[in-house]
Amino acid sequence: MLIRKIKDMKQITKRLKKEGKTIGFVPTMGYLHEGHISLIRYSKKDNDITVVSIFVNPIQFGKNEDLDRYPRDLERDVEICGKEGVDYVFYPSADEMYPEGFSTYVEVEGITQRLCGTFRSGHFKGVTTVVAKLFNIVQPDKAYFGEKDYQQLKVIQKMVRDLNIDVEVIGCPLIREKDGLALSSRNKYLTPEERKSALSISRALFRAKQMFESGEKDPSKVIDEVKRIISSQPLVKEIQYVEVVDPEELTPKKKLEKGDVVAVAVFVGNTRLIDNIKL
Ligand code: AMP
Repeated sequence: MLIRKIKDMKQITKRLKKEGKTIGFVPTMGYLHEGHISLIRYSKKDNDITVVSIFVNPIQFGKNEDLDRYPRDLERDVEICGKEGVDYVFYPSADEMYPEGFSTYVEVEGITQRLCGTFRSGHFKGVTTVVAKLFNIVQPDKAYFGEKDYQQLKVIQKMVRDLNIDVEVIGCPLIREKDGLALSSRNKYLTPEERKSALSISRALFRAKQMFESGEKDPSKVIDEVKRIISSQPLVKEIQYVEVVDPEELTPKKKLEKGDVVAVAVFVGNTRLIDNIKL
C-alpha cells in the first residue's frame, strides 16, 4: 500500500505497535534494483511488517550534484515492492518533510569527516537528518542498510548509538552484477563505454583482496595497485579516493588486517561511483 502523508504513516505505525507487530524498515531513494530487493528480503524474513520508504532527499545533495536528474520511477518501484510482499511503501513529499521554517538537523561528528565526507560537505548531515525523521515516523524495530554505502551504514549506527534510538541497524551485503559492477541507481547514467570502464573498479577491489590473501600487509602497495587498475581505463575522469580503513572508525590503516575495508570513489565520465570490499 502506498502512503504519501506523514500523518497516515504515523497512524499506521501506532496501530501496528498496538497490535504487537514487529516493523522492519528499508529506507531508499527509489529506482529499485536487486541491491534494494535484497534488503527487503532480509526485512521480510525478520519482521511481521516491512516498510520501504522512497524519498530522494534533497538536503543530502550538494549544489552541483545530481538531485534534479536522479532516476525516478515510482510506478515500477511500487510494482517491485508489491511483488516482494512489502506491506507499506512510504513516499513522502519534500514539502512535507521540510516545510518552510524547518531548521533542525542531526549531525554525527568524526567519521563523517572522512572518505566521502571530504568531498561531499553536508551530505551525511542530510542523511542522518532524514533517517532520524524516518525512524521517528516509521518507528521500526530493525532497519536495513547496504554495505554498498559502507560509510553511511557506520554513520547511521553511530547516530543510533549516540542518540539512544531504539532501532537495530543491520548491515547487509553489497550486491553486484554478474560482471562485478556494484548495483546502484546511478549506473543508469553510464553509457555502454563508461560501464566498461567502470568495471575496473570492482576488478581493482578483487585484486586488492587477492593481494591481501597472498600476504600483502602494506596498504600503500594495495592502494597503488587499485589506482593503477582503475586509472588505466579511458573514461575514468577522476579517482576521488582509494583508502584502506578500519571497519569501525574508518581511519586509514598502517598495516593491513582481516576485516579492513578498501573503499573507493571514482568519477566515470560525469557519474560518481562508490564501491568497497572487506579484506
Ligand atoms: P539508495 O536508494 O541508493 O539510497 O540506497 C538505499 C539502500 O540500499 C541503502 O542502504 C544502500 O546501501 C542500499 N544499496 C544500494 N545499492 C546496494 C547494493 N548494490 N547492494 C546492497 N545494498 C545496496
